Amino acid sequence: MEELKAKFSRVYIHKDSLGSAVAKRVLELFPSDSVQVVNDQPLKEKNGRLSAEDFEASKRALYLAPFKGQFFKRCPGARPGLLCCNYFVLNLGQQCDMNCSYCYLQSFINNPVLTIYTNFDQALNELKEMHKDLGSSRIRVGTGEVIDSLSLDELTLYSKSLIEAFRHFPNWTLEFKTKSAKVDQFISCEHSKNVIVSWSVNPQAIVDSEEYGTASLEERLRAAERCRDQGYPVAFHIDPMIWHPEWKSNYTDLVEKITQRFRPTQVAVISVGALRFQPEQRIMMRERFGMKGWVTRAEVYPSQDGKLRYDQALRREMFDHVLGQFRAAHPDWRVFLCMETPETWISTTEQIPHRNPGLKDLFDTKVLHQHRNWSQNTTTP
Ligand code: SF4
Repeated sequence: MEELKAKFSRVYIHKDSLGSAVAKRVLELFPSDSVQVVNDQPLKEKNGRLSAEDFEASKRALYLAPFKGQFFKRCPGARPGLLCCNYFVLNLGQQCDMNCSYCYLQSFINNPVLTIYTNFDQALNELKEMHKDLGSSRIRVGTGEVIDSLSLDELTLYSKSLIEAFRHFPNWTLEFKTKSAKVDQFISCEHSKNVIVSWSVNPQAIVDSEEYGTASLEERLRAAERCRDQGYPVAFHIDPMIWHPEWKSNYTDLVEKITQRFRPTQVAVISVGALRFQPEQRIMMRERFGMKGWVTRAEVYPSQDGKLRYDQALRREMFDHVLGQFRAAHPDWRVFLCMETPETWISTTEQIPHRNPGLKDLFDTKVLHQHRNWSQNTTTP
């Protein structure tokens, strides 16, 4: 907790959030001279396209406030030009206390504070309402779209309430997605095996050069083992794969670490994706991280969804390599490509999800059509 407190130079609490459990915890934990009660979002004059400096500062200013909109949204991958799965996102805040060079929040965040939403009960009510209509469908809900699911969870403790809620939603799956190793706060909660704890992982060389302030690869794998040992299904996202001269041996090593420490039955799914970002993000990445990293120097090209990606032949080579490593370790590993174009899916034919018995439920289009009403608020990262 001390490490987390040290990340924030200033804490703002909206007056309407003062009664919330998270605000009470913050008031107990942070020195009173670093906390300010406000009537409105602080630093509002900076709202809009943030400069690199403002974006940097936004990671050190914590703001607790109620969220005024709808908490649930369809996954941004579900749009023309991309194959994706029936995934919903539940945003319980915005911005991240960690600092990856490729982070898409750099092209998305437009206010200068890291916000935690305090009206968590409203999110739970939305969840219950949605369950009335869609309780019999197989739905996956993730909390790690615009804020890491767990890095601030020791402060919010939202994971515990969500785990409890999902015990009553047996057909649904909740996914916590993180690059932290913060699992102590929920690990002993009773669960119904429908809460997946997942880690974005990369070789340690990439963690060192591109994923600042995150847990080391070893810490992430150790946290995953602890969750597995408590009966939680775990998942891994080898995403974004980043080209560097030793990429083949480093990703081989990463796959070996996973396959030697976990069995296919213990890992719900492994998704694989490659570096991609909006063209306008490149300027901010270079301003913030210079030209030394593998991301800011990457040779990338526009793809059909407008994002910059490695050329297709390289992406295919990278995916084939990782998929091949898993297949060689054991045929039962459930690996799929995430946020990829149909051409890339087709080039790795065995992994087209609709043809893969282990994955096709995740991509059930009937479920997607049923959820059309919920899809109107899709965000575009
Ligand atoms: S952990 Fe995720 S949200 Fe946080 S900086 Fe890295 S990529 Fe962005």
